[in-house]
Amino acid sequence: MAQVKKKVAFMTSGGDSPGMNAAIRAVVRMAIYLGCDAYCIYEGYEGLVQGGKLIRKMEWNDVRGYLSEGGTLIGTARCMAFYERPGRLTAAKNMILNGIDALIICGGDGSLTGADKFRQEWPSLVKELVSTGSLTKEQVAPYQHLNIVGLVGSIDNDLSGTDATIGCYSALARICEMVDYIEATASSHSRAFVIEVMGRHCGWLALMAGVATGADFVFIPEKPREDNWEEEMCQIIKQHRHWGKRKTIVIIAEGARDRHGGKITPDMVKNLLADKKGLALDTRITTLGHVQRGGTAVAYDRMLATLQGVEAVKAVLDATPETETCFIAITENKITRKPLMSAVKETQEVAKLIEEQQFDKAMALRDTEFSDQYKSYMMTTTMGLDEDINLPEDKRMKIGFINVGAPAGAMNAAIRAGVAYCRSRGHEPIAIHNGFAGLARHHSDGAVRPFDWLEVDGWASKGGSEIGTNRELPEESGMGHIAYLLQKYKFDALFLIGGFEAFHAVSQLRIARERYPSLCIPITLLPATISNNVPGTEYSLGSDTCLNELVAYCDKIKQSASATRRRVFVIETQGGRSGYVATLAGLGVGASAVYIPEEGISLAMLNADVGHLKEVFNKDKGQSRAGRLVLVNEKASKTYSAKLIADIIREEAHDRFEARDSIPGHVQQGGVPSPMDRSRAVRLAIKCIQHLETFGPKGYETPDQISQQPLSASVIGIQGAAVVFSGMKDLEENATDWKNRRPKSAHWLDMKDVVNILGGRPEYPLPE
Ligand code: ATP
Repeated sequence: MAQVKKKVAFMTSGGDSPGMNAAIRAVVRMAIYLGCDAYCIYEGYEGLVQGGKLIRKMEWNDVRGYLSEGGTLIGTARCMAFYERPGRLTAAKNMILNGIDALIICGGDGSLTGADKFRQEWPSLVKELVSTGSLTKEQVAPYQHLNIVGLVGSIDNDLSGTDATIGCYSALARICEMVDYIEATASSHSRAFVIEVMGRHCGWLALMAGVATGADFVFIPEKPREDNWEEEMCQIIKQHRHWGKRKTIVIIAEGARDRHGGKITPDMVKNLLADKKGLALDTRITTLGHVQRGGTAVAYDRMLATLQGVEAVKAVLDATPETETCFIAITENKITRKPLMSAVKETQEVAKLIEEQQFDKAMALRDTEFSDQYKSYMMTTTMGLDEDINLPEDKRMKIGFINVGAPAGAMNAAIRAGVAYCRSRGHEPIAIHNGFAGLARHHSDGAVRPFDWLEVDGWASKGGSEIGTNRELPEESGMGHIAYLLQKYKFDALFLIGGFEAFHAVSQLRIARERYPSLCIPITLLPATISNNVPGTEYSLGSDTCLNELVAYCDKIKQSASATRRRVFVIETQGGRSGYVATLAGLGVGASAVYIPEEGISLAMLNADVGHLKEVFNKDKGQSRAGRLVLVNEKASKTYSAKLIADIIREEAHDRFEARDSIPGHVQQGGVPSPMDRSRAVRLAIKCIQHLETFGPKGYETPDQISQQPLSASVIGIQGAAVVFSGMKDLEENATDWKNRRPKSAHWLDMKDVVNILGGRPEYPLPE
């Protein structure tokens, strides 16, 4: 007997958030790919209760173009009926009548609580449907258990157990964009702005916006300031103004309170800042409101929603009556399944603890990244004002900051944070301009100099590299000379920020320690490159900015393609010999094919892909004019360039569709760095300086003792669910593909499969 196809349904519920559409696309296509029927419940639980046309079967092509749309295209609603058992009873009946076996819900903690309640009650609901004669025993027989999986869609990032919720980075991007605009006018008029952002019980948006924009002060619900907050705020802002800042930005979460539960409002803050007897600042209030929810999703949210959607389908099909209801989480860089109800309970617990004014406990229930970011924020704004964190004279270090390689988004933000942290600890941060070339040849004419704080303070949102960067490696500059200069300027440590060249530079410095004892100082690298090809990390600063640029570029191109005629755009991406950027951009825009250096390109592959394109254009005849995208990494093949691939497709299409190539080039480095790059820059840079601190200033240990410690030459990285330092020697010998300038293993290769599956790409032969 033919097996009955499983029916997997998906719905969005609660407030909408950017990325929900990517989740819909992923769930629908993955379910179909795995041999199931895919359904969407329109209008959240309302659709489940009303049934009828609100429960619809979805086909593969129904979700085309979803990735680049904001909000949720299947609607969402708050449904009062679902709070009550009779509502859930009708919902259960509708599910059974439609033959739905499994349900995936994307929403906030309310929606997920409702989902779990529904699953727990399910057997009794089924029983009642039979006993009241609504349904027959035979009808309910196949539906004795309901399998549910949650996806967290919320802009607040308020669910415990996951680092990010679908939509939170898009909302953060919108907030930071607005703050960047406001900063320009604030600075012009030397004004203060109090900006209110969403977050009733969760200060993630306010805090991260504060970190990413370098705001002067933030108020969040879970960590109220001390009782003297008015004084503290005015003192910090006075100090910042004293240093010469012309603008003041205070970010306040809508749920901000004092330690006694009293609300802190933007008006209260404004009155303080404007007080004629105090700071007397010309102060304005901006409430951002619903713009925070709007717009298309950033690359990260598309990636998160897609990978989590795929995982949700697998999880719901794996579920048995015995398994606990799970939701799909992300920890640093790792997608995981976690028990749903304990996360919901913890989330509700945070809100309760805030109400009860047990703030330390509330903060402890937030994830480690949150408290890390809070500490980072405080260190970068209270510089020198907090004497408790000042180090004694003999522990202070002179630390050289240097950029190596091509510029990447948030290099400046990392330097700003590193310098601010150094200042708060009493270290001496020194700028080395234009990489090792600058050090070698221009050290005596200003290339080595202390940072000017006022200048650096404005770097939180600046793209490029303000201290200048250069590709030259120390061996090219002359290792002996570099070693001499490091000694001459009495550096206790070196902090590098850059891509593969910077990695290579650290390797050269480490190896040369045997020859030059002055190189036996702690050296650490914070990877920053759009190619994200540095061994030791799965994430480099600037890669998120690059993906946002590429995704925005592709969205526009796709729109142009659909506005004109049936067209394929072949887009060449950067990325060196790493296909990371091409693959992740392909995930964010729904590419029909992605060509990467790790696989290469063969005629047979092109043949398969051209055949597939012919087929899809054939199938959707006149009904859909939307274009298709093919992404090619610049080094995927020596022969098949984007132009040649476009020519081949055009030739083969015989006028049935068009093909063009397009090269975004250096646009990919991005203008203003993304908030994710900026906030990670702050967190990771501070960790780097803290790591250098563990070795102490020169003379604390002998050169031999330093070089014997594997982490004295290191790379910071995000690996899976953790932030780690890796020893350079180990990375050089075991993790680096030197010929191709990339890590030996690519953590993202699984994502390539997801791009292929969801893009409907056929199996293709790899080049021999
Ligand atoms: P947001 O983050 O936008 O607040 P949310 O999912 O928490 O999202 P809610 O309004 O709390 O939003 O919940 C959405 C819907 O989920 C409700 O309208 C209701 O239908 C259902 N729901 C929420 N809580 C429960 C509950 N305890 N029992 C049953 N259904 C619930």
